[in-house]
Formats: sequence, C-alpha cells, structure tokens
Amino acid sequence: MAYQTLYRKFRPQTFDEVKGQDVIVTVLKNQIKNNRISHAYLFTGTRGTGKTSIAKLFARALNCENPRDGSPCNECASCKAILAGSSLNVIEMDAASNNGVDDVRRIIEEIAYSPASGKYYVYIVDEVHMFSKNAFNALLKTLEEPPSYVIFILATTEIEQIPITVLSRCQRYDFRRIDIATMADRMRAITDAEGIRIEDRALTYIATCGEGSMRDSLSLLDRCVTFYEGQEITYDSALEVLGSVDTAVYAALLEHIINEDVTGAINLLQEAVMRGCELTYFVSDFVMYLRNLMLVQVSDDIENTVNLSSDNIAILKEVSERVSRETVMRYIRVFSELSRDMNYTPQKRVLAEMAIVRVCTPDMEDLDLGSVDERISNLEEKLKNTVKAAPTVVYREVSPAAAAAVSSQPAAPAVKRPLSAALPEEIQAVVKNWKSIMNHIKENDMLLYTQLRKARVSAEGAVLLIIFESEIPYNIACSNTSRESLGEALEKTLGSVVTFEIKYIKPETAADDGGYEDILKSINFEIEEA
Ligand SMILES: [Zn+2]
Repeated sequence: MAYQTLYRKFRPQTFDEVKGQDVIVTVLKNQIKNNRISHAYLFTGTRGTGKTSIAKLFARALNCENPRDGSPCNECASCKAILAGSSLNVIEMDAASNNGVDDVRRIIEEIAYSPASGKYYVYIVDEVHMFSKNAFNALLKTLEEPPSYVIFILATTEIEQIPITVLSRCQRYDFRRIDIATMADRMRAITDAEGIRIEDRALTYIATCGEGSMRDSLSLLDRCVTFYEGQEITYDSALEVLGSVDTAVYAALLEHIINEDVTGAINLLQEAVMRGCELTYFVSDFVMYLRNLMLVQVSDDIENTVNLSSDNIAILKEVSERVSRETVMRYIRVFSELSRDMNYTPQKRVLAEMAIVRVCTPDMEDLDLGSVDERISNLEEKLKNTVKAAPTVVYREVSPAAAAAVSSQPAAPAVKRPLSAALPEEIQAVVKNWKSIMNHIKENDMLLYTQLRKARVSAEGAVLLIIFESEIPYNIACSNTSRESLGEALEKTLGSVVTFEIKYIKPETAADDGGYEDILKSINFEIEEA
C-alpha cells in the first residue's frame, strides 16, 4: 500500500477532531443543528489551517441523514458515498486549474435541477482567488439568488483578491493560525496512535517550524518519521532533519552583534556551517528571529503572531529591552538584503561575513540611511544633554548633509511642493490630511504606523497606493488588522471611504514601476517632533 501522509491519514472526520478553530467549528455545528444554513461561505486564512478539512466535513454534515451534534455520522449512505468520493452531491474544484468563465457556466448548468438524492449540492472551490474576472462575474448572479439546494464554500488564502461584490454575498470565516500547544497536542495524539516515539521538545519544535499551519507541521513530522524509522525522535534529531538551528543560536548571534563582537559572530556562523547548516536557511531564519524581536518591541500581545513558546517570548522580551527599535530594523534590512543577494552568488559565506561586519560596525555604513538615523539619535542625545532649547527635529529621509543641518538649524520648516492639480479630490484630501491620518494610526496601531513610515504613497486614479519595497513591512501592512486600521484611519480623518491598495515592488524593479509619483513626498520630508 502506498504511504499515506499523516496529514491525509489523520484528516479530521468529525468536528470534535478539528483542532485550533473552535469558534468556527461551534458556529458551523450550530447551523447544522438549528438548520440555519447560508448559501455561500467564504473560508479565508493561511495555508494549512483547516479550511478544506472543515469544508469537507461541513459538506458531509449538510447532507448527512443523521448528523450527531452537528457532525456528520460518517455511517449513513450519504456520508459513505461522499467519503468514498462517489457522491454527486459534493463537488470539489480547484480554481487554480478551473478558473475560466466556462467552468462557472458548467456549474450553473449542473445546478439547474435539484439533486436526485441527498439534500444539497455543495461546491467546494479551493483557491477561489484564482478565478478570472469573468468567472467571478458569472458566479455572481448565482451567488445572488442561489437555488435552495445549492451551497458554495469558497476557500482562499488571498482574501484581498476576492471582489467586494463576491465578499458581500458570502458568510466569511477567518481561519486563525493554529497555536503551538494545540499543534503539539494534535501531533502527540497522532504519534501515539501510530506508535511513533518522539520527545515532547521535538514535537514543540516541529510545531514551531510549522508557523501556524497544521499541514506544514505534519509534513515536517512526516520527514522526521521517515528519516528515523523505528527510532525515537529526539529534539536534536528533529533539528538535524529539518536542517534548522535552535533559536538559542540566533540569540547568541544577536548577542555578539549587539556587542559589536565581529569575531564571535563570525565564529558562530562558521560553527553552524561546519555542523552542516544550509547558510541560506540560516540567514532567512535569523531574519524571522529579528522580525519576532521587532514585533515583541511594538506590541504586548504577540503570542499569536510570532508562534513562539512563552519561554522564547520571555527571552525575546529581555533582549528587546537592550536594543533600540531602529537598530533592530537596521539589522532586518541588512539581513533581508543578504538573504536576497545570496540567491545570486556561490560566495554565500563571504557575503554573510560582510553583512556581519556591516551590522557590527555602523560607522562603516556611510551611505546607509539606517545608520545615519542612528547617528542622528546619538547626536540628539548629545544635544539634549547640552542645550535645552527649541524642540529637536528629525528629518525622516535624511541625507548626510541634512543630518549635519540638524545641529545648526533645528526648526527649519520643510518646503512643500505644490500638488499636482490633476489629482482626484479623494487623493488630495488624503495628501492634505496625511499627518492626521498617520497620527490616528500611531495611536491605534503602532505596528502599522512603523511600517507605513517606510512606504511610498502614490495614487492611480482615485485609488490610493501604498507601495513597499521590502517584504516584511509589506506583509505586515497586508494583514487584515492593518487594512482595517488603515481603512478606519482614512474614514475617521476624512469622513469618507477611500479605496486603497497595498503594493509590493521589488527594489530592483522599483525604478521601472510604472512611474508612480510619490505624492506625499513633500509631506514625508516634513519636520517631525522627535
Ligand atoms: Zn451521515
């Protein structure tokens, strides 16, 4: 018999076996129990968080002859047929390969008549964001007035690509990343059932690597099981198979960097390489470590965002107090660049060592704005101690010359460029009120605020564009929470809704990005009280 992956083998068969999505499960179970079914559902969330598993379960429950406490019985003729894949009532389709208007027309034809057996036709459309514009339009009419016997469950990892017209017709469920303890528990149940011996610490580590995705965690577990067939899987062997490095190593590396100890940092890197660690992963994991450090600095409630054990969070908090936010940002910038550049060269190790020298000696980075910022802060500190004069000002985007100017003319007003008259009213309002908008965000969402300071702002017609040239701030800005914060700040400040789009433009293509004009440039240069 072919090997079946743990993820497939242990796909939950009842709602009680679903872990980490309690709220969603309760709501769906109640809908079955009270027979209050909606006709279109939208499941959204990161990969591996249970969208398809729950969709399949729900589809069976909808057609089950004797549902038990809202779960499918898995024994009636309907459940059995669906489980065997022979039922015509549940249709799964992958929008990645069936994304055209013809595919949707086919569905519409299929549902012209009520099902011969069972209660509902349930269409589970995976990766629905892959639908073409025409496909969405064709679906819209059916979503508006679906026949009583048709139910759509649309699943997507990219909610922002779903047209608003579709969103507004669906009941939306946001799937959370699954926390480490829940994943470790689930994996423990599976390893016990399979007679696999594995240390608790190894399980927790695998769960951490899964970054909130049950599917990823189970496939990592699969890898360890295959590698150590029949032996106990220890924490160290898990580290070895997954080719990863204990976070303690990253903590030690950071320690060396903070102390500007180049030799210590490079020795540590060498040791990691000697132990067979793949440098590319090492660096990208270190960037993730720094990202977690940054999140710990800006927010108190990060347990769900960073997917680290509480012990590790405590360690991060301790470290975070010894290094400034700006410095962490600079480290992230240097190491993200390194991570990108390493893809293009065989001399990975030399590049890595250069990056270490660079972060350990901020004075060497003459042209690096981050280190200029740092030197300005140092300068400011000194100023504070000598003169208690007018409020100190900082130029956001600063050239070395401007940096020098800080000490001589602290309150110099910024020159505002006249705005292009062709800008639509909405955008002009945004430009005029940008400072208030940013203040609103600063009060309500510090994390987003720090990211937006790195963004370029432009417009395409009446659509406000927020453009990032690096991935981490872009990803943070794209989260649902950030989008809500931004939308709210715009609405509260301007009294009207502004459509906005968040874009990522790779730095190497930035010069050729369609010529977006930085409409806020005059404001970005505006003086700011430190
Ligand atoms: Zn049943």
